[in-house]
Amino acid sequence: MKDNNYYLMDTEEVFRSLDTSPQGLTGEKVEERKKKYGLNKIEEEQKIGVLHILLEQFQDPLIYILLVAGVITTALGELIDTYVILAVVLLNAVIGFTQEFKAEKAISALAQLASPRARVLRQGNTSEIETEELVPGDVVLLTSGSRVPADLRLFETTLLEINESTLTGESLGVRKKTKKLEDESSSLTDRTNLAYMGTIVLSGRGKGVVVKTGRETEIGKISETVKDIKQAPTPLQVQFIRMGKIIGGVIVGLSVLTFFLGIIIGLPPSQILLTAIALAVAAIPEGLPIVFTLTLAIGVSRMAKRGAIMRRLPAVETLGSCSIIASDKTGTLTKNEMTVLSIFAGDTLYDVTGTGFEPHGEITLPGTKEKEDLESNSALELCLRAGFLANESGLNYSKEKGYTAEGDPTETALIVSALKGGINRNEEGTKFQKLHEIPFESEKLYMATLNRSQEGEHYIFVKGAPEKVLEMTAPTALYRDGKPGTLDKKKILEQYEQMGREGLRVLAMAYKKVSPSLTELSSSDVEKDLLFLGLQGMIDPPREEALEAIRQSKKAGIRIIMVTGDHQITAEAIARKLDIIPEGETAVLTGKEIDRMDDDELYERVGQVSIYARVSPLNKLQIVQQLIRQGEIVAVTGDGVNDAPALKAAHIGVAMGKTGTDVAKETSDMIITDDNFASIFSAVAEGRVVFSNLRKVVFFLLGTGAGMILLILFIVLTGFPLPFLPAQILWVNLVTNGLQDMALAFEPPEEGVIQQLPRRREEPIISSLILERLVLVGLVIMLGTFLTYLWQLNIGAPLAQARTVALTTMVFFQLFHVFNSRSELTSMFKMNPLSNPFLFYSTIASLSAHLLVIYWPPLQFVFRTVPLLPIHWLAAALAASTIIIIIEIEKAFRRKSMESQALLLRQFPTRFRLAAILNLFKKIK
Ligand code: ADP
Ligand code: MG
Repeated sequence: MKDNNYYLMDTEEVFRSLDTSPQGLTGEKVEERKKKYGLNKIEEEQKIGVLHILLEQFQDPLIYILLVAGVITTALGELIDTYVILAVVLLNAVIGFTQEFKAEKAISALAQLASPRARVLRQGNTSEIETEELVPGDVVLLTSGSRVPADLRLFETTLLEINESTLTGESLGVRKKTKKLEDESSSLTDRTNLAYMGTIVLSGRGKGVVVKTGRETEIGKISETVKDIKQAPTPLQVQFIRMGKIIGGVIVGLSVLTFFLGIIIGLPPSQILLTAIALAVAAIPEGLPIVFTLTLAIGVSRMAKRGAIMRRLPAVETLGSCSIIASDKTGTLTKNEMTVLSIFAGDTLYDVTGTGFEPHGEITLPGTKEKEDLESNSALELCLRAGFLANESGLNYSKEKGYTAEGDPTETALIVSALKGGINRNEEGTKFQKLHEIPFESEKLYMATLNRSQEGEHYIFVKGAPEKVLEMTAPTALYRDGKPGTLDKKKILEQYEQMGREGLRVLAMAYKKVSPSLTELSSSDVEKDLLFLGLQGMIDPPREEALEAIRQSKKAGIRIIMVTGDHQITAEAIARKLDIIPEGETAVLTGKEIDRMDDDELYERVGQVSIYARVSPLNKLQIVQQLIRQGEIVAVTGDGVNDAPALKAAHIGVAMGKTGTDVAKETSDMIITDDNFASIFSAVAEGRVVFSNLRKVVFFLLGTGAGMILLILFIVLTGFPLPFLPAQILWVNLVTNGLQDMALAFEPPEEGVIQQLPRRREEPIISSLILERLVLVGLVIMLGTFLTYLWQLNIGAPLAQARTVALTTMVFFQLFHVFNSRSELTSMFKMNPLSNPFLFYSTIASLSAHLLVIYWPPLQFVFRTVPLLPIHWLAAALAASTIIIIIEIEKAFRRKSMESQALLLRQFPTRFRLAAILNLFKKIK
């Protein structure tokens, strides 16, 4: 087998030399070849850099400070402190490492979920497999929007056009053929019967046999090796890192201040130096970067569980501020379980009985319920036939799943109606052999096939959007008796509108006889002189989950917009069922109207109109652009190749997992696996949770740090002996930063989070509420700890005991405060302590560890603690409980003032109605 000359062979030869057939490979051969050729991919497995992550844990300025501190303590001979510092460094590294490793793993597992897939024919059956699994000899199906999964020799093409710019730089599409080439041609573009891996199908359909895979492909040969696909930091992450630095700077500054104050007051320099260092180490929230990654990763995996796969991490943040979701209708807001209910053919209206894709039911005359057979109305027969033949989809049956659609449910519905009417499934294909076709593309609004009857006559069958088909017909229609008569366009349009008002999706059928010399279709052959056959109207029930999600979206201040290729009347009827149209708004904007507007006009309209019908992908882009100009944060759905610009332009491009093309998926920020609107909404909800959890972590970490700093500063200023030894300060740091902050990242969604208005994108993490509360928290912690300490000193307790009591008070403060941090406004008593088990158990673990520190002699020695009496515990717990009481009171005040504000605004009257949202989350779970 000579290399690379498949384009010089005819297709027979290609199949022979690759030992395969147009029906595809057998399972055995696939296995054999997998072993022989390996996986079909160019890049090496992206390994999670274990060592890299581990080393990263030590590359943190805060760790440097710790290490310097370690050197100083060694120099001062305070070896115990040195060990404690080292223990802190190691523990930090271990915790950081495990969390980050987990996060990375979660994220790379998601990348796997979103990996590309290919439609392949094996042993005569089509299925979808991972692109990696392809082997030479496999038969691959191409449709518009797919990325060619390997190097292929094409053997069937219909109007196949491929963009090869990834390979050749040429941005115009290349029309592909199947004929073998005669000359050896040097340029890849000239080999028109090959399709290259990585290129994009712009339009048409094709079948090809895999000739090369992986690194053997043209793109594989030229592409560089392993690319580092590490994600760039997200905007919020950048904000976070910057914030961390500022906080770090402030804390180091305060520590230096403490040091000098101590010196001035006359404390021994080594002691105050160690204290200042320990203080800096304790107050600096070194956990922040890890917790950030972790919170995002948790959010991302929660979204994945609800059917939304994030392709780009920054989108997770943007999701939380999404203010508009512009959604497709068919399949996203509706079930895509099409069933034909009405047929208008031969000037007669029929009902069709039966539900779903089950081909059992009858075509009857309304009222009489009398069954109609095809003999008595040949227009009906041809209408069903056109629906059956101008069709690329199938009807599958399996014991487990019953009847299901293969391909486009709209088309499957037409197969089912044809079967109900009596068309014979097995014979029809031979009676009218398909010679060629023009596949359906959203821009064209129709599809056509060329068929040869057994008598050798050639026919074109067409189905498509009624207004489009009517443009292509001669003013003739077929009547009951099979004779053409004048086309009563007005009556047909009336029927069409009537069906549309009932929410039916309507397609029209037409046909014509052509000369037997015509063997390939072009649009000019099809788009004139057709004979009108009839209309078929199908229901597509709205998804119940969508209805609920829309209700929730409204409460969440998110506007829902429907952008569909379907007819305006149908779109409006479905929108009414889903309750999308706000009161007082009735207008539907169509693609045609948008085409006539300039940007400013459209800008004016997008604020009010929620239904956009018969829109082209370009219209979709325009709508998105104008919404963005209005200042909205827009999520938009898409599935076709031409949706890519709109997906890119939107803040959050959402691709359909099932019906989406590769191109749409690749340009999207998020893929919804079940094509379900409800999944988009839950992702938005999770996005909000991510942000609010980040805020909780920050609030918690800063609050405890502030308390510690204020306390030490205060003590130094007032001239009391220091309440903590350096090792003890580090211990407090470990208790809080070790587990509690991470635990907050696991907080379940808070009730109120969905009912608030979308967050402004520029809203800082530290809001004024958080800032004010931080000051309060710092003061309370400082005073509470100081008072227990003072009490001990006053009753003449030994210093070691006074310190142990102060230390215990401080630990209690942290443990209590973490529960305050669970919500900005909701009382902690209204939250189930077990709804975040990690938090609950980590609190118990921290407390137990503290018990060990106080009662276990080796640790007593290290931390220089003494055993406490019950009275001490009681005092510490009482003092620390003030943080709960005070924050609860403060929360209540804020709720009051917000409630009165809300009343004024009348915008979100149900802000604090917990039950409804709780319900939602139960549902979504
Ligand atoms: P949407 O998915 O938003 O409902 P489409 O772009 O799929 O819109 O369809 C637009 C219109 O094209 C439909 O209203 C219908 O009239 C027509 N149509 C849809 N699917 C097909 C098809 N497979 N063959 C012919 N016409 C179709
Ligand atoms: Mg569609």
